[in-house]
Amino acid sequence: MTLPVGDHRKPPILRPAFIEECDERIKRNGMGYCKVCEALIPKTNGTPHKGRCICSMECRRKVWDAWRDYNAIYSNHDKRAYERDKGICQICKLPVEWADSEADHIKALCLLTAEDRLDPYWWSIDNIQTLHHSCHAAKTREDVAKLKALCRPDGTLFAEVAE
Ligand SMILES: [Zn+2]
Ligand SMILES: [Zn+2]
Repeated sequence: MTLPVGDHRKPPILRPAFIEECDERIKRNGMGYCKVCEALIPKTNGTPHKGRCICSMECRRKVWDAWRDYNAIYSNHDKRAYERDKGICQICKLPVEWADSEADHIKALCLLTAEDRLDPYWWSIDNIQTLHHSCHAAKTREDVAKLKALCRPDGTLFAEVAE
């Protein structure tokens, strides 16, 4: 039995909403104004600095944070889910070393409904949990079994995936 093809790992919105907002502010205000807080970034003579679009380290961090959230799912370098889970595997509830831990999508991306797939929430850190490799493998087997149960022999879905 084949499974439905397609890359479920890509979120529906390729850029974080906050970054889109920043782009809108640049379009509206032009360079020389902060794309985060819209403050004037002055040259020494007081006119807008046309080479800059971020006013301060604080605003730069906000941009980094937006990307960090987006990238969390694809990076093994982001420890926020691990830290939030306090280094505990969320299935067996035993500690797992950071180097051995894996990030799992709690609601499997392959089981998202068509409507779900329009919602970046499922790609956010809220849908990520820390697991052991073995616990992750067992959960993935379950997820794949659920998916297979929803598929015809040709791999198409019987019905829209339910909750
Ligand atoms: Zn700013
Ligand atoms: Zn475990």
